[in-house]
Amino acid sequence: MSEVRVRIAPSPSGNLHIGTARTALFNYLFAKKNNGKFVLRIEDTDAERTSQEYVDNIFDSLKALGLNWDEGPDVGGNYGPYTQSQRFDIYPKYVQQLLDSGFAYECFCTPEELEAEKEEATAAKKAYVYSKKCENLSEEEKAKLRAEGRKPAIRFNIAKAQKAFHSSTILEFDDLVKGKLHVDTNLIGDFVIMKSNGAPTYNFAVVIDDALMKISHVIRGEDHISNTYKQILIFEALGFEVPRFGHLGMILAPDRSKLSKRHGATAVSDFVKEGYLTDALINFVALLGWSPSDGQEIKTVDEIAQDFRIGEISSSNSIFEYDKLKWMNSHYIKMLPIEELKERLKPYLTKYDLSSLTDEQYTKMVEITREPLTLLSDITDAVPYFFGKDVEIEPETQTGTLDTDVAQKVLVDFLEKAKAWEWTEENLHEKLAEFRAYWKEKDGIKPKVTMWAVRAAITGRTCGADMVGILEILGKETSLYRAEKAIKLAV
Ligand code: GLU
Repeated sequence: MSEVRVRIAPSPSGNLHIGTARTALFNYLFAKKNNGKFVLRIEDTDAERTSQEYVDNIFDSLKALGLNWDEGPDVGGNYGPYTQSQRFDIYPKYVQQLLDSGFAYECFCTPEELEAEKEEATAAKKAYVYSKKCENLSEEEKAKLRAEGRKPAIRFNIAKAQKAFHSSTILEFDDLVKGKLHVDTNLIGDFVIMKSNGAPTYNFAVVIDDALMKISHVIRGEDHISNTYKQILIFEALGFEVPRFGHLGMILAPDRSKLSKRHGATAVSDFVKEGYLTDALINFVALLGWSPSDGQEIKTVDEIAQDFRIGEISSSNSIFEYDKLKWMNSHYIKMLPIEELKERLKPYLTKYDLSSLTDEQYTKMVEITREPLTLLSDITDAVPYFFGKDVEIEPETQTGTLDTDVAQKVLVDFLEKAKAWEWTEENLHEKLAEFRAYWKEKDGIKPKVTMWAVRAAITGRTCGADMVGILEILGKETSLYRAEKAIKLAV
């Protein structure tokens, strides 16, 4: 296999998980680095758990992350179809090949019989391995079972395959990430490759698909290592070239348990809804197992691709630090060009009447409120005072600031003086500076205390964006209306 061909093969039984996004990224990077192809295959054989909504979510999330595939269900390619449920007619031929060559056999055991075997193993404190009861059934015995109405499943014969291709019962492979891994195949039961209803199982379909799609490297989570042994033997039994495998460590939550919804978002689309930028997300997941050679963590996918070497991926588990992701996200928000940021923030501003602002005012609002944003969604609570004539005053701002004598006398004077001010940025700067200086001089009121009073009256809060910018956006009329109202309210 000279051409590098890798794939991501998600099962659409949920929205695209952030862990799958990382696996997709590492495959994508490996393809980029080696001038290879990145294939998307949808593994929807489990019809009950699969839905079109999840398929769409997988497409949208991968695209949003910039992980575009060269071949896949929507874009096609030479080795399609790329949706497993459309490949059902491909598998029986290979099942037959395994039956004919003796690497597979029909199994008539009922679920109850299998359950009894399992219980026996549990009682004897042994790991369960299928008894191979059906391995050597005669044609007569099979006919009899069929006559009882039993339909066989097809099992793969592990020992037979192992013996045919290896010198002992130990199966070893050289993992691209973890180095040499091995298992004693006596511990692997003869597993079902095709169910009695004719549906292929994951371990079988994946081999046929990977082989026919000419996948050269299989990079996926380490939870698949036990599957890999089974898959290697099927590749060998069918005479297919075995791809190279690389298994990535798991992603754990900060408390070192499996990352789950109770820790925070886990699906890419949920992170996006919460206000994460996909550029930040992809940069962050790249660092779960990979480190840049120059120590510079903020990198685009293209920059990462330059530096990426699969052999340098850490084989251990990575911790998903939500705080670090937040830090990274705030960095990416700061880097975003203003026009793009304005667009990206809109979904989080739907509760406000954006049409009440001119484009110039909206630009200004975003400019003066962007600095502390960690998530795009933080904008929602940062800007209510830019909308409407009246402003909601926070209770603690009312009692702690506006109700004080100092604030009241400052505001009375502010209203009086500001009426005469020319409402331009430059002039407001100058006038506010004079105003602060006046009260410092007159009553020794600290400049920040003077400004708290003004800010509290105009915005209903004691901290927020640049005050001159706020006054400018609100305009003279609304600003003075609010100042006056604050005075009346406190009397
Ligand atoms: N459909 C499998 C999963 O989502 C793919 C595993 C593989 O990469 O082989 O876990």
